[in-house]
Amino acid sequence: MSFNDLGLSAELLRAVSDQGYSNPTPIQAKAIPPLLEGSDVLGCAQTGTGKTAAFVLPILERIDLDSSITQAIILAPTRELARQLYGEVKKFAKPFNLRVASVSGGLSKYEQTKRLQQGCEIIVATPGRLLDHLRKQRINLHLCRYLALDEGDRLLDMGFDEDVHGIVSFFKKQ
Ligand code: AMP
Repeated sequence: MSFNDLGLSAELLRAVSDQGYSNPTPIQAKAIPPLLEGSDVLGCAQTGTGKTAAFVLPILERIDLDSSITQAIILAPTRELARQLYGEVKKFAKPFNLRVASVSGGLSKYEQTKRLQQGCEIIVATPGRLLDHLRKQRINLHLCRYLALDEGDRLLDMGFDEDVHGIVSFFKKQ
């Protein structure tokens, strides 16, 4: 299978080839088409198998480039993972001039708040810090249609289920 068969736009195909990827990995081939159709997907693949691009590419494909409001939230269980994810997402988002914010513990709340006030289409976050900003109304989810839980099993193992439900309830409310 080639990336051309997955339903990605020419711009994203260019971004993919700029990364040096020639063919989709199995998780990408399986997850990208249903995500582009708007389905929820529960994907399972080991680290290093391209699972990040499997959910980031469809998010980029479906984001409204004319709206500068937050449209996607990507959650990671640890600060380290959030930091790596932020780097990956920024790499793909760059050709589209999309703004990505990192919202995780251990980083200055003041700097994050300033960054959020400037506006961003995509937020990469750890659950506790995201909830903190949501409760203080520093993030508005009313146009946010995509929620990705990276390493969802670890999010639950590490006891973040209540925080994740709290975040989902903000999506529902807004
Ligand atoms: P993951 O941690 O599962 O997201 O895997 C990330 C690694 O896989 C990174 O080194 C990516 O550059 C690489 N990768 C992702 N998609 C592809 C692809 N289609 N072809 C080759 N390498 C890829």
